[in-house]
Amino acid sequence: DTGLGSWPWRRARITPDRIALIDDDRSLTYRQLADNTERLASAFRVAGLDRGARVAYLGPNDIAAFESLFAAGLGGHVFVPLNTRLSAREIDFMLEDCSADVLIVAPSHHDVVEQLTVRPSTILTLGPGDDVPGAREFRNFMAQGGLGDGFAPVGLDDPCLVLYTSGTTGLPKGAVLTHGNLTFNTVNQLAHLDVLSSDRALGIAPMFHVTGLNQVTLPTLFKGGSVRPVGKFDAGTVLKSIEEHAVNCFSAVPTILQMLCEHPSWQSTDISTVRYVIYGGSPVIERVAKAWLDRGVQLLQGYGMTEAAAGIYLSIADGAADHPVSVGFPHFYTDVGIAKDNSVHPVTSDDRGELLVRGPNVFSGYLNRSEATDSSFDGDWFRTGDVIATDHAGWTSVVDRVKDIIISGGENIYPAEVEAVLTDYPGVVSAAVVGVNDDKWGEVGTAFVVTDGRAIDKHDIAEYLAGQIARYKIPKSFHVVEDIPRSATGKILRTELRTIAADQVP
Ligand code: AMP
Ligand code: MG
Repeated sequence: DTGLGSWPWRRARITPDRIALIDDDRSLTYRQLADNTERLASAFRVAGLDRGARVAYLGPNDIAAFESLFAAGLGGHVFVPLNTRLSAREIDFMLEDCSADVLIVAPSHHDVVEQLTVRPSTILTLGPGDDVPGAREFRNFMAQGGLGDGFAPVGLDDPCLVLYTSGTTGLPKGAVLTHGNLTFNTVNQLAHLDVLSSDRALGIAPMFHVTGLNQVTLPTLFKGGSVRPVGKFDAGTVLKSIEEHAVNCFSAVPTILQMLCEHPSWQSTDISTVRYVIYGGSPVIERVAKAWLDRGVQLLQGYGMTEAAAGIYLSIADGAADHPVSVGFPHFYTDVGIAKDNSVHPVTSDDRGELLVRGPNVFSGYLNRSEATDSSFDGDWFRTGDVIATDHAGWTSVVDRVKDIIISGGENIYPAEVEAVLTDYPGVVSAAVVGVNDDKWGEVGTAFVVTDGRAIDKHDIAEYLAGQIARYKIPKSFHVVEDIPRSATGKILRTELRTIAADQVP
């Protein structure tokens, strides 16, 4: 059994009494984590779940999320963590697309569940189940499972996780990650990072994103360290837990690093135990990098994506401080290439171009989307849609994107998805959304709309969008224009719009 679900009992053989997880309510040793994993997995079996059944999870980072992940893994089911910021309509789409058999929901999301039209046959709530129609309580459900039941082995090629990501069409696609993808990602991380078995990691990044799970959390658990999942981000509280738990490492997006170092209690917080911080999604601004480096923290930039089970490049301790904008070097087992003249070339020094990747951490396809899968690969190379550049010594930077995504505070926004919702609004004939640079969020969306002559109220349109899509996707500004610049084939000329948008934003 080489599945992720075997990690808790494998660790429990070596370090049974060490703390694996601590959250606001409780803590678990590796022995207890192994027992809970087994109980929950057998409860899934009692409930009639087959191998390959989908277990969706909607809730903040906490211990139950890890119990669910490992239990799904042990039973050969597929774990589908959902973005907690999505609207009921967006969640419906994903539950239907993955045909979820189980949905596990945190108290913070009970009201969202009541609005869902797609209802998996088993709904479990963390906390009392009575307030959600048809739901059962997670703890009682787990208690129905036994120990020592035994499970059929799970292999590296079996699917482990479906993470929703999107593309040019705007409809989310579920990237299927296997146990092997996740395991090799951990091995890759361990090859770059100085992870210790005594490490105490903070799980700040949400685990419904590939970075939250894979950059620090799983490698730390693999080594036998302990992880403290953070349910709801609040800069003051996080600084307090860094000091209280003598935290050694975590991963976060630049916006979070900025909020922490600009918080009033930053100077008075003891962060001397923090050895390294991984950040990614976009580069960090200079003043933020300096604030962390000045406190003796190793700031390592990573570059990766959902389809690669997270890591593709990662900086290294030796030289990171002198290369703050660089994402360092390719991961140990990850092959990288550059697309040139319709073929794939090895990446050399002083090189530049669209990056292609392959390796045991790279996924093999999207759920139910064979066409999208085919068009995202060039042979066995996955096209990242990102442009990288290397210097003479191989230090690499992400310099551009050839795909249409906006990254705002670490969340991806797919213009096509927002545009489709915008054009459904009465009076809007066509719409285009582009990203503009923003000091705090990295980028924010701005919308251009063409109307049929009707007056459009910006507050009304924002309110309408709030009912349809997650709040972070709502454009921060709206401009009514005569027409939207398009190519001869009708493609929106986004570069042109970005220039116009940059001029209009004060
Ligand atoms: P996701 O699949 O949601 O994890 O988003 C992956 C995308 O985020 C990549 O394809 C890049 O466009 C972007 N990205 C990730 N890390 C970095 C980074 N360090 N610098 C710039 N862009 C990044
Ligand atoms: Mg993505």
